[in-house]
Amino acid sequence: MANLLKKKVLVTGGAGFIGSHLCERLLGMGHEVLCVDNFFTGTRENIVGLLEHPYFEVLRHDVTFPLYVEVDEIYNLACPASPVHYQFDPVQTTKVCVHGAINMLGLARRTKAKILQASTSEVYGDPEEHPQRESYWGRVNPIGIRSCYDEGKRCAETLFFDYHRQHKLQIKVARIFNTYGPKMRPDDGRVVSNFIVQAIQGEPITIYGDGSQTRAFCYVDDLVDGLIKLMESPDTLTGPVNLGNPAEFTIKQLAEKVLSMTQSASAIEFRPLPGDDPRQRRPDITLAGEALRWHPEVSLEQGLRPTVAYFRSLLAQ
Ligand code: NAD
Ligand code: UDP
Repeated sequence: MANLLKKKVLVTGGAGFIGSHLCERLLGMGHEVLCVDNFFTGTRENIVGLLEHPYFEVLRHDVTFPLYVEVDEIYNLACPASPVHYQFDPVQTTKVCVHGAINMLGLARRTKAKILQASTSEVYGDPEEHPQRESYWGRVNPIGIRSCYDEGKRCAETLFFDYHRQHKLQIKVARIFNTYGPKMRPDDGRVVSNFIVQAIQGEPITIYGDGSQTRAFCYVDDLVDGLIKLMESPDTLTGPVNLGNPAEFTIKQLAEKVLSMTQSASAIEFRPLPGDDPRQRRPDITLAGEALRWHPEVSLEQGLRPTVAYFRSLLAQ
């Protein structure tokens, strides 16, 4: 019997870390998935297990150019997320955020699709309010080395809300906090993958600054649950909604956890702190709890186990 709930879902950035998990989950729910990616940071390996699926399709395409396809829902994830990669070509990063959003919103308008934006805790910048609630406007440097991403994502949020007000689009804005898990690239450059790869290879663990800055780490399965719940929530809920795990750790604590879990003899090496690195970050997830009944279920220790196992098998190849 035909699945009447089957939707045609577009995932931009679908070959990336979060996008590939999302594609897999959506296929598992019985939807048709179109993965659009220019493979800047995404890889074919991330989606190789999906290529034979009859309802999965991949299109190599850069979202800074218009896209003409017919879809019911759009998850807009295309954008390099690691500082190393988004600072490689900062002008392109702003274009991906802004032109990418305009193109995907235009597509949503034409097809009357519901559209979800993968926004970020970076819209809060180096926050004075802690933990961060959605009502906080943030403290972002507009001219620093992180600005291409932070301001690009802020402008994308503006565009989403203007399309909602002006063109009555059904929008959903998720503010994603640091997320980790299998399928991150070993050279991704973000802290969890860096520390695990360094520990497994017996190389020094590179702590930037003195390691007292904090982050709150969400396991990818929890995050994907949150994204899907937000997409499926009533039309009146536009967000922004924080999605992240509120358990907060210093970067030094993370290094120690990774060292003990991998039983590594790696030394800790302190390196200079990059510019505008936020001092602290932790989501207030009251809204996600109340409106989506969403709470992350995987603790840092539970989530690090499969992540370490993933990198061990990848690096053994
Ligand atoms: P990622 O770098 O693994 O994935 C991004 C994907 O977008 C990659 O597959 C990349 O090739 C693709 N992409 C980049 N530029 C593109 C373009 N011009 N056209 C088409 N595809 C393009 O990063 P991720 O961690 O999976 O992040 C996914 C999304 O979630 C991003 O929008 C990111 O800003 C957001 N986010 C992630 C985190 C996190 O901690 N992982 C936190 C906040 C927000
Ligand atoms: N960091 C670190 N060593 C690394 C990579 C990152 O100490 O090898 C620090 C980084 O300076 C920041 C934190 O870890 O304070 C999180 O960095 P990441 O790039 O993962 O994400 P973001 O800064 O965007 O939250």
